[in-house]
Amino acid sequence: MYECPNCGGNLKFDIPSQQLKCAYCLTTHDPYDITKTQDADESSDFDVTIFTCPQCGGEILSTDTSAAEFCSFCGASTILDSRISKEKRPTHIIPFKQTKEACKQAYIARIKHAPFAPDELKDKEYIDGFRGIYMPYWAYNITQKGPVSLKGEKTYRKGDYVYTDHYNLEGGLDACYYDLSYDASSSFSDDISQRIAPFYVKDSKKFTPSYLSGFYADTADVDSCLYEKDALKLANTTSYNKIKRTPEFSGVTFSGKNNDFYTTMTLHTYSETPERVLYPVWFMSYRKNGRVAYATVNGQNCKVAADIPVDIKKYTLGTLWLAIPIFVLLNFFFTIRPGVLLTCSCFLAIASLIVYAWEIMDIYHKDHRTDDRGYLSRRPHKSSAPDDKKTTASLTALMKSGSADGQRKAPGFIFSLAAVLVCICVWIINPVSDLWYYVGTVISFIGILLTIVVVIQKYNVLATQKLPQFERHGGDDGAK
Ligand SMILES: [Zn+2]
Ligand SMILES: [Zn+2]
Repeated sequence: MYECPNCGGNLKFDIPSQQLKCAYCLTTHDPYDITKTQDADESSDFDVTIFTCPQCGGEILSTDTSAAEFCSFCGASTILDSRISKEKRPTHIIPFKQTKEACKQAYIARIKHAPFAPDELKDKEYIDGFRGIYMPYWAYNITQKGPVSLKGEKTYRKGDYVYTDHYNLEGGLDACYYDLSYDASSSFSDDISQRIAPFYVKDSKKFTPSYLSGFYADTADVDSCLYEKDALKLANTTSYNKIKRTPEFSGVTFSGKNNDFYTTMTLHTYSETPERVLYPVWFMSYRKNGRVAYATVNGQNCKVAADIPVDIKKYTLGTLWLAIPIFVLLNFFFTIRPGVLLTCSCFLAIASLIVYAWEIMDIYHKDHRTDDRGYLSRRPHKSSAPDDKKTTASLTALMKSGSADGQRKAPGFIFSLAAVLVCICVWIINPVSDLWYYVGTVISFIGILLTIVVVIQKYNVLATQKLPQFERHGGDDGAK
């Protein structure tokens, strides 16, 4: 807690004034003037209280010691365990620019366009649960300086001949890329951080712990070298593209361009020691049926990224209201032949099968966070690339089970598959009476509908996340 020099009250960071403000005497103070003795600039650490969720092991830290009553990661309402600790000092911070009110308005505007979202997500009390959390990032500063010699070629055709010109390009390169930032927390999924990106470093300030007052921060637990290659590659690609854009070099293909090591050597790409930085995020979680959905709002520019599940009841009613008039209208204007009808439903059934298979793959990737390198790097016992045998096994399990949580139910694709079979049978038998075509169509439509309900259930799995279970290292009191 930071004390007001005027009255001893609790100072908190005030977003509109970008200063520390006292709730009692209403005076404002420069964050750099307010320090605890331990906050001294020379120290590489600063004092924090770490709050650990007893349910999921998720950790957030604060400069305040007052109890935290819910966990932002798994959405549990529980008093979090707290312990005093030290945290590495970030070099820079982008202080919150958008107030909670502005964040709530941005979220409400977003959820308005989701007619099938569950009512709870639009509930005022729920929306008040947004919590300001500083998310840690690694910021890389990359330089490229020195003489560059590139080999390139340009191929073109003249008449019956194909000509290849070889180039040897010599020149000097002097480029800097500042603050290429990557998510440094394994609990904050890369997917979310990408969806609320970018943060603009123009608002970046030198870090001082009092900026955190009144907010929380997530711990940086991903190794800094994890994203170094990506940052180097980004710099390399950008520089190459820049060179290619000069008119003299247009159409030239550089040799070795796809070899990262070669490119880094040729362009003298060099990464300085990455910096710890904190970016502001408004964060809220919604927990239902053993899954959790996150709503995040960029605290600098109010960009919203929200997981929005579909309420099946709302959806079914909505589509029925839409489908009935369309069907009546169609019947009014056209006479549809039974054979055509059957073919249509067969194609629909096949389409629903494809959507189903597609979703299963997506759910698998999402639940295993296969593209979240920060998360995977923190799981030492498992190789970061899931081996093929295991993948197939758990995919099969996912196909068989009715939901990703492993409850055994008939798999959803059975219904559409049956629909396709019924259609094929009717064709093969080719009955004289049209009635059989209609019966076939009705049966296959029911099959498709059932599959679509399962598809929506699965969509909800996709729109939400597995309840997190963090394996924290070190300081094991409170960690699971
Ligand atoms: Zn005061
Ligand atoms: Zn939790």
